[in-house]
Amino acid sequence: MDRFRHINTWVFDLDNTLYDAETGVFARVGDRMTNFIVEILKISPEEANALRKEYWKKYGTSMRGLMVEHKIDPYHFLDRVHDVDITDVPQCPITKEYLDRLPGKKIIFTNAPRPFATRMTKHLGIDHHFDHVFTIEDADFLPKPNVDTYHTVIKKFNFEPKHACMFEDTAVNLKPASDLGMTTVWFHGKNQSSEEHHHPHIHHKAGKLADWLQHTVGPRRK
Ligand SMILES: [Mg+2]
Repeated sequence: MDRFRHINTWVFDLDNTLYDAETGVFARVGDRMTNFIVEILKISPEEANALRKEYWKKYGTSMRGLMVEHKIDPYHFLDRVHDVDITDVPQCPITKEYLDRLPGKKIIFTNAPRPFATRMTKHLGIDHHFDHVFTIEDADFLPKPNVDTYHTVIKKFNFEPKHACMFEDTAVNLKPASDLGMTTVWFHGKNQSSEEHHHPHIHHKAGKLADWLQHTVGPRRK
């Protein structure tokens, strides 16, 4: 915990960070996005998939690309694609217990919409741990890694970036955090060979949040 002693604000991504990528929830949302694009733009699923990835890379979220290039209504889109079953997502006993032992303010900073963030954190049994939840609606639909949105979060919750630590599975989202002076932790999942392992904006890394918590926060003092 020594290397995190100066931290009083903990900023968490939601998807594939507060729950594991292996749950497949994000893939379900992705499938619904593809179907939505097929329907709206009248293209094949293959083309829709390629477009989704292209926009995700270029705009931070596929939705942002659809808003900018095709004028889609973000609320309509978000409602449709996040209407997924999450009942099989398991709760993580380590995350549930250890989050409490991080001293300071805890914030969720997600590109997901508010109804989904609320439903998911309740389902995971961790909603009571967080002081604030900042969702894509709060960002005026300008997703991470757009630096303006990081400034909005910092201003809104009034914290010092140099005393904040951000957790993410999407490495590129840690670049603005690091540039602004935050400490960063990247969760690489099973992705052991990625070049992102060596990026200077990745200060610490772990397989997943439960690993980091167990390793860094350590066992409960008797
Ligand atoms: Mg994520």
